[in-house]
Amino acid sequence: MAQVTGNEGYRALGDRMIAARGLPASAFKAECQIEDGPSARYRPLVVRDGQYEGSYFQDHAPLEECSEVVGHAVRAMYYFCGAMDCAANGRYDDALGRLWANLVGRRMYITGGIGSAGANEGFTADYDLPNRHAYAETCAAIGLVMWASRMARRFQSVEAVGVLLRALYNAVLSGASQDARGYFYANPLESQGEHARRPWFECACCPPNIARMVLSVERYLAWEDDAGLVLAAPVAGRYEVGGHVVNVESDYPWGNDFTLATETQGTIAVRVADPFGGQGTLSWDGGEARSEDGWLVAHALGGGVVRGRLGHVPEFVRSHPLVPENAGRLAAVDGPIVYCAEAVASEPSPNAFRVRASAKPKRSSGGLRVEGTDLSYAASLYSGSAELVGTPRSLDLIPYSTWSNRGPSVMRVWLAEA
Ligand SMILES: [Zn+2]
Repeated sequence: MAQVTGNEGYRALGDRMIAARGLPASAFKAECQIEDGPSARYRPLVVRDGQYEGSYFQDHAPLEECSEVVGHAVRAMYYFCGAMDCAANGRYDDALGRLWANLVGRRMYITGGIGSAGANEGFTADYDLPNRHAYAETCAAIGLVMWASRMARRFQSVEAVGVLLRALYNAVLSGASQDARGYFYANPLESQGEHARRPWFECACCPPNIARMVLSVERYLAWEDDAGLVLAAPVAGRYEVGGHVVNVESDYPWGNDFTLATETQGTIAVRVADPFGGQGTLSWDGGEARSEDGWLVAHALGGGVVRGRLGHVPEFVRSHPLVPENAGRLAAVDGPIVYCAEAVASEPSPNAFRVRASAKPKRSSGGLRVEGTDLSYAASLYSGSAELVGTPRSLDLIPYSTWSNRGPSVMRVWLAEA
């Protein structure tokens, strides 16, 4: 409201509401105690052994003292965004840096989904990232895009750009079916066929939130800072930022090549994030550049065309060994896109496949393909040796965001390692 109206009173109000969190005199606690009050139904989530414990409301401690992301995931994201927008002089920057490290280092799915538990619609403990029973609400991923965008701008953080893109292209977009008539509230990373998108929810926060995010996505992809224009990703489009117009042509995220050109006169530096691999290149009339610290920089763009290539290739990745759910498993990624295997396009079931860690998935139409020489699968229920039998011809992987568009099906992001 302060940005739109110019009335700084709104910002001061936001700052005051954030500073009121986690204090002994809690308005949230008082509201919960009102018999039949609007917050009475939250009592089971905030009263432990007769004592108020406000993490569900982000009311457990003042923000300056926080180091772990806890409680309701959507609330947490909107809270951190508000703290960055409203507080003067970077008052919460240290705490937000700690919370960010905890989230992306220990409590975030590879898809950018966050808030693994349905009980509190939120966070649990470090490395507790169940796949099949993941909550990972669509709105929480949208909130993460919003927070990551602010972290990327405030700290020129290419890591934050990477998180923004992972969440946007996976945990956000999986929330809607391709015909936009069905929605996921929770976004699991594994299904045994029990999940399907629904047309609506009693608490229908996610469907309009996806609409808002998709229709305003350019705000998260391009911005201006002291050094010039910044592109989080070279998504094709026409961007009007700070009096400059930049046209981008590409088939990102499916290809690595792009061109960008400015319509406006004069010179301006343009930075393009290269967060996955960091081996990209840029060239323009009179200059060229390689990725440095995850950024590609064209120093003097003035009406000319810049040709670029991002550095990422399809690959299998492991998760941290302390994530018990993913021990002995691999997931395929290609830049921002996380891939999954779905039974409707896979014979045998994705549950049976074993993938060699050395496998090099290749881009194919609509996804990635793993060749049979990198695969095997178990064909009997029990056997006396660890030997696996069967050599399937190939395994096709589809973007995670597009799963469950062909009917209920077994689906896995994390495949067993051979
Ligand atoms: Zn929601």
